[in-house]
Amino acid sequence: MTIFHSTTWVKLLGLLPGELNPNEASWLVTPQHHMPLMSNRRAQMILNRVRLFASLFAVLTPLWMFVDLLVLPNPLAWQLALLRLGATGCFAFIVYCYRPEVTLFNAWRGMAMLFAIPTLFYVVSYVLLTHYQLTGASAAVGTGYAFLPFILLAGFAIFPLTLLESVIFAAPILVAHVTAGYFQFSVVDWPSFWGAFWLQGLIAGVAALAGVCQLAFMIALVQQAVRDPLTGAFSRRSGEEVLELQFILASRSGSPFSVAFIDIDHFKAINDQFGHQQGDVMLKQFAQTLTQGLRKGDVLVRWGGEEFLLLLPNIDCRQAMHALQRLRRNGFGLRPEQTPLTASIGVADMLEEGCNDWRQLIEIADQRMYAAKQQGRNRVIAGSEPVASLQPALA
Ligand code: GH3
Ligand code: MG
Ligand code: MG
Repeated sequence: MTIFHSTTWVKLLGLLPGELNPNEASWLVTPQHHMPLMSNRRAQMILNRVRLFASLFAVLTPLWMFVDLLVLPNPLAWQLALLRLGATGCFAFIVYCYRPEVTLFNAWRGMAMLFAIPTLFYVVSYVLLTHYQLTGASAAVGTGYAFLPFILLAGFAIFPLTLLESVIFAAPILVAHVTAGYFQFSVVDWPSFWGAFWLQGLIAGVAALAGVCQLAFMIALVQQAVRDPLTGAFSRRSGEEVLELQFILASRSGSPFSVAFIDIDHFKAINDQFGHQQGDVMLKQFAQTLTQGLRKGDVLVRWGGEEFLLLLPNIDCRQAMHALQRLRRNGFGLRPEQTPLTASIGVADMLEEGCNDWRQLIEIADQRMYAAKQQGRNRVIAGSEPVASLQPALA
């Protein structure tokens, strides 16, 4: 049974969009374990598309009003025209007035608002249309209204959504279809009604697949873009983004946030004696050793050449010292001449320093790193005084 499960699972994972590793498959199902940087970029992308979709609807919705007025009987045509104007106003509101802070929650809210408008429009127009027995051209125009849910469901395909999000967003539209059928209970043609429902389910499935593929592609691109190709650590640019995000989060919650500025000792000598390529190997090894010793949630950034920043959310200076002590005990690997590779480290905690800007925090950590260099290298400094217990443990 277990063998069956694991082979089925492996086969299913083989069908995954090729951009992702199998262990990242769960990222396509729920947004729970997305890294904050990724969530932020996805939120921005969703909000942009919400605006794009809303502008398109704001233009198209009133245009069809003229067809209604020409073809449909009164007062139905006027009622629908008013409904269209109302919907246009709501779409315009999203385009011009919905400019929230970029968070995933606000992106979801934008999507919910965007899709709630045509869903309501559909239910109300359907109820209005049930009072009329339309024939000829007016019947054709009237039938057009029944296609709205199909368009909405297909519209989900332009958003990079997880499977769970697609299900949650598509459900109200499917429910709206059933609700519309309920209002027309006595006259509805049930086989074609359920046929349409089935088709909507299929379209929702295809749109969800398109959303998941977009998400997979996006995750792969973000991962590529945020990493420094040599060391696999975050690049400076994305590191700044993470810093900004984590700094805001920590300020809001009042929790500590420590950073460690790490500079490899006498690195130039490796390049000079053994060549630049050997230097690259050392950098890679240094970053790998550091990363292996990190907790989930800690972030390593390559700040420049042989300088790294370690972001340690939710821990204060003392705890950061313990973490670094542990890392130093394990060592950072060996230099080509087989002596230990060492680093000078400066640590600063946002709360303790009372910083209100992350640049200030980095500046303090950087100054402490320089102090560590001046005091003989291969040490950590977390305050104005060096911490005795952490004096050279290696070399
Ligand atoms: P200190 O202990 O004072 O930090 O001495 P150091 O030699 O480590 O520092 P210094 O700033 O003098 O030299 C840093 C060197 O790092 C100089 C530069 O050539 C090298 N470097 C920067 N980026 C890379 C890289 O990507 N690959 C390699 N191989 N070397 C690099
Ligand atoms: Mg150095
Ligand atoms: Mg340096």
